[in-house]
Amino acid sequence: MAESSVEPPAVLRSGAERDDAALAGPAPVRDSVREDPAILLVDDNPDLLDSLFELVSLHGFRPDKALGGRQALALLDSKPYDVVLLDLIMPEVSGHDLLDHARREGLDAKLIVVSGDASFDGVQHALHCGAFDYVRKPYDPGELIATLELALRQRRLEHDNRRMQSQIRESEALHRFIVNTSPDLVYMLDRNGCFTFLNDRVEPLLGYSREELLGRHFSEIIDPEFQDVARNLFAERRTGRRATTNFEVRLKRRRGAPGLRVVQGLGIWVELTAQGIYEDPRERTRDGFLGTYGTARDISERKEAQEVINFQAYHDLLTHLPNRALLKDRLSLAIAQAERNERRLAVMFLDLDRFKVVNDTLGHTMGDRLLKAVAGRLQGCLRAGDTLSRFGGDEFMLLLPDIRTRDDVVVIANKILQQLHAPFVLDGHELFVGASIGIAMYPEAGSSEEALIQNADIAMYHVKGRSKNGFQFFSEEMNHHLSTRLTLERELRNAIAAGQLEVFYQPQVRLASGSISGVEALVRWKHPERGLLAPEAFLPIALETGLIPQIDEYVQRRALEDLAAWHARGHQALRLSVNLSALQLEQDSFVERLLREIARVGLTPGALKVEITENILMRDMEAVVPKLRRLQAAGMQIAIDDFGTGYSSLSYLRQVPIDTLKVDRSFVADIRADQRGVSIVDAIVAMARGLKLDLIAEGVENRVQLRYLKAQGCSEVQGFIFSPPVDAHALGVLLERDPYRQLVLDGHGN
Ligand code: C2E
Ligand code: MG
Ligand code: MG
Repeated sequence: MAESSVEPPAVLRSGAERDDAALAGPAPVRDSVREDPAILLVDDNPDLLDSLFELVSLHGFRPDKALGGRQALALLDSKPYDVVLLDLIMPEVSGHDLLDHARREGLDAKLIVVSGDASFDGVQHALHCGAFDYVRKPYDPGELIATLELALRQRRLEHDNRRMQSQIRESEALHRFIVNTSPDLVYMLDRNGCFTFLNDRVEPLLGYSREELLGRHFSEIIDPEFQDVARNLFAERRTGRRATTNFEVRLKRRRGAPGLRVVQGLGIWVELTAQGIYEDPRERTRDGFLGTYGTARDISERKEAQEVINFQAYHDLLTHLPNRALLKDRLSLAIAQAERNERRLAVMFLDLDRFKVVNDTLGHTMGDRLLKAVAGRLQGCLRAGDTLSRFGGDEFMLLLPDIRTRDDVVVIANKILQQLHAPFVLDGHELFVGASIGIAMYPEAGSSEEALIQNADIAMYHVKGRSKNGFQFFSEEMNHHLSTRLTLERELRNAIAAGQLEVFYQPQVRLASGSISGVEALVRWKHPERGLLAPEAFLPIALETGLIPQIDEYVQRRALEDLAAWHARGHQALRLSVNLSALQLEQDSFVERLLREIARVGLTPGALKVEITENILMRDMEAVVPKLRRLQAAGMQIAIDDFGTGYSSLSYLRQVPIDTLKVDRSFVADIRADQRGVSIVDAIVAMARGLKLDLIAEGVENRVQLRYLKAQGCSEVQGFIFSPPVDAHALGVLLERDPYRQLVLDGHGN
């Protein structure tokens, strides 16, 4: 069985092919030998030939006659005979000549000599030349027929035998074909576990030739990880229901074999079947165990797909770090181990400090690259056994399972902060990100994975709330502070209903006249315990939780009411600026609702200016621009807030319906007496002029800035130099006093 043949066997081939094969193979066997055997009678004496013919015909046969050797020769060549009855002494071509001819030609007819030549030599020679038997003339009819029948029986036996052999050959060829063209590896092991057979699949699958593996032990091709499994699989007594089916193991490929799969390395996944072979299949004894046979099916593709799916389920696709699910898994394991060994462990919640700015201003691609770079540096700070995972966004979680003291953790936290301190250089941008790290230690900060993660999160928010870029261990008091996002979120939902939100106003002053031309509405939260909170303390949570449109609507309603009141008191020229969030702008009914609110308080849209940041605009220009057009068509003004910090270009600014650019306060802050860093302000001024847009500067804190902006032709300013945001009452007082004319008109001192 070990020889190779992928040629299909004759039974599978087409007619034409089969004929060729038949020519090359053994002589075809006639089926008629049973029912109608071909018999030839040969004698040179016509009377004797006729009487022989009659005798044989009488017994139900239909023989042919040949008068003399020459005629016999012609007939023998024309068709195959089963039995030939043959006279020896004939002129020209004798019986001996025919015997010689038959032998030379390989005729397989049975030749029976019928001759009066009774001499020992004649018989001897005839038998020597392959005659089947000898009947003496004059013959006894019973003896002659008996001899004829005997020859026929022999002929039939030979025929059957040959037919069986050819069937066996065919079926063997068929099986070999099936085995060798099987997509599976087919193998056989002897009782010691060494290969005795392998089909052709072995080479493409494992890179070994059949000869290399025959005689070698199966363990040589089993991946080290699966040696134990395999030993068990190939153990004896694996038959019947105990036969091994569909067992998944990894096989080793020959080193340097072509077509290696990248994911698998040198290995290849197969599904194994194994069945014991016994001397007596009914009695499976240890002594009767002969070996094992079975198949191995290549399932690498399925395994790879599975591995990819598994990987995706447990990893963050951007950084390839473990995700939240996998970290939780490892954490619960680590907790169990720490508990058993009475050891400690730490989890670190790490949030990048300035990631959002990068993401919003330089775009997601850059944000993604930064995250990957950060992940890379963080990984450099880990020890074997630590797990770094990305929780999403700019949040990372570290599991440090083997910790003795707090100091161990302090060392790692400091190392991380130091690593992140150096700028990341991406595409020529120097990006600075810090990190806020919250640490929770087992067992003091919690004994479940949820508790530890949540408390690390709480500690992280403490760092964020205070200084940023630092670390802090969780302590019980933190829980009492209402600082978790969860409680804050709950409180924020209440705050809207409980009327804890307030609207403050910051005056905007026209530089040409020094009068208050407008006010910007800015939200504040009067927290019952924590006092007055600025937007940056709660708007990020409002944004995350989707509460922000509600806040915006509230602020807009209240501010419009206040504005209506001021108009009623004689300040009809006063304009109100409100900030829009992306979420609010995305609402379908947003434009109608805002116009309705304006009408409700008896104002016109011209009294309102909306501020949107570049990033909101860029997020979905196609949806945003039509809405802004409708607002503008209604008479409302539109300003780009924090201008210069986003990622805008002149070409897109032309497509957007805007009236005002609002220079971000960071650029204003750069205006100093030494004139450094003002180039951006100059550029924005030039841009506004080119696009014929109004220019307002925010964050103006001193006279240097004021003077510079005025000189550049900025029409309006807003900033602490005039007033911080104040409540509605205080703003009302400012409106009555109109206190800024002097400062603006002759504000050339310091
Ligand atoms: P913004 O729209 O750019 O608002 C201007 C911010 O600059 C205000 O901060 C204001 O208090 C501050 N500011 C004004 N003058 C000066 C100054 O001279 N120096 C400095 N350093 N800062 C000054 P605030 O009130 O904390 O608001 C922060 C941001 O929160 C706002 O930035 C705005 O984007 C957002 N925001 C405030 N109220 C709302 C609101 O009702 N809805 C929405 N969607 N966002 C709001
Ligand atoms: Mg604003
Ligand atoms: Mg601004």
